Amino acid sequence: MDISTIMFYVKMWAIGILFYLNAVLCNTVNNFVYDSNPSVALLQKYIQINTTTYNNLDKAVTFWTNLAAAQGVEIKKYVYKPNMPVLVLKWPGTNQSLPGIMLNSHMDVVPASEQDGWLYPPFAGHITQEQDRKIYGRGTQDMKSVSIQYYEALKRLKEKKISLLRTVYMTLMPDEEVGAEAGMLSFLPSQEFKAMNVGFELDEGGALNVPMIPVFVQDKVVWQIQVDCHGVAGHGSSFQPTNATATGKCHNVVTNMFAFRDEQYPLFASAPSNDSSGYTSVNLNRVSGGTANNVVPNVVSLTFDIRPSTKLNEDKLQQMLEEMVYSAGDNITITYISKNPQSPATMANSTNPFWNAIQSAATDLNITLVTAVPPGSTDARHVRLAGVPAFGMAPQRNTPTLLHAVNEYLGVNTFLSGIDFYEKVIKNMASVPANLARNPSSYLYNTTIG
Ligand SMILES: [Zn+2]
Repeated sequence: MDISTIMFYVKMWAIGILFYLNAVLCNTVNNFVYDSNPSVALLQKYIQINTTTYNNLDKAVTFWTNLAAAQGVEIKKYVYKPNMPVLVLKWPGTNQSLPGIMLNSHMDVVPASEQDGWLYPPFAGHITQEQDRKIYGRGTQDMKSVSIQYYEALKRLKEKKISLLRTVYMTLMPDEEVGAEAGMLSFLPSQEFKAMNVGFELDEGGALNVPMIPVFVQDKVVWQIQVDCHGVAGHGSSFQPTNATATGKCHNVVTNMFAFRDEQYPLFASAPSNDSSGYTSVNLNRVSGGTANNVVPNVVSLTFDIRPSTKLNEDKLQQMLEEMVYSAGDNITITYISKNPQSPATMANSTNPFWNAIQSAATDLNITLVTAVPPGSTDARHVRLAGVPAFGMAPQRNTPTLLHAVNEYLGVNTFLSGIDFYEKVIKNMASVPANLARNPSSYLYNTTIG
């Protein structure tokens, strides 16, 4: 072996060591960022499955099937509409005759595109490296983090051999973001749901940049109407009376609807931030019509999104809306795109042992809860309407509200402390003894007046 050969091997060895060190260091960094905590890694993996509504959910089904298998728990898949699977994981209680606890979350997310200005690709689950680490991605707040928190909390309880008195179900819905027709709305009337004998449901909440967790006790419902104004069509140079034209009639409709909107706005402006129950929001979200710049259109359509005050009687609201529309002229039609019946509220006081169970978990962890009625809605509105009491929560304190927004993220520590929260919440709720609990629907109450 001559000196140059020896030098060659020495060099190769040195380069090898460098590559090795580089690999180790990179891995260490990667491990630190991505894999240092298995719960965080799991959330990241879930974010990386693009479950935008209408996407194929097969990968998400496989993800949850594997997780169920890892815990040795039963998973059922029900499909009510093509490509819209509903998943149910079951942690059996020691007394399966007692009404169970349903932990609901939805698999689907709203669309996100890098072009909208995301700092990191929205389906990468990028974790920032600063001291106060954040995980970015669509679904980090709404609501993949909560699904993983439920699962990790149940896993811990199992590892600690803490038995649950009541059966706990994790339900994973498709189609929440566009109205739940193929998800919760199909699931609730099913035999499968009835057989679960659910006594209480937890559903989604929202992040809030305050040091407390809002608990949604009721949801506002969704009404969307399309108003079609038909009028005299003609050449762009023709001149009809305003009230005979489609646009003139639409103008009248808009005037009436906006007068109502202006009545409601001060109620919104003076409402406490956690209570949207007292006002009806009205937005004109689509205006369409016309075929050419020099043709008077024969029809113009308006679409309004209305979220009724939870105090409003729905028959009275319908009557009022129709009056505002039909008084605007003849040949105007209303189509209800969405018209959810009002949904009751869930009692959040000491007479409800499930509320006490959550409250005591929060007290143990020094967390303040605040009851809330959000301006929007979740699947829980359908669940309450089906007679099952429900609270909506997201353990995302001190977090800007970024549901559906660009650069949706969640603090890694916030995510991890949410697992501690659910561990206690689930343990307490599943331990509510039979003699303390009343009939589930007795925890619901109607808030409409008249
Ligand atoms: Zn959501």
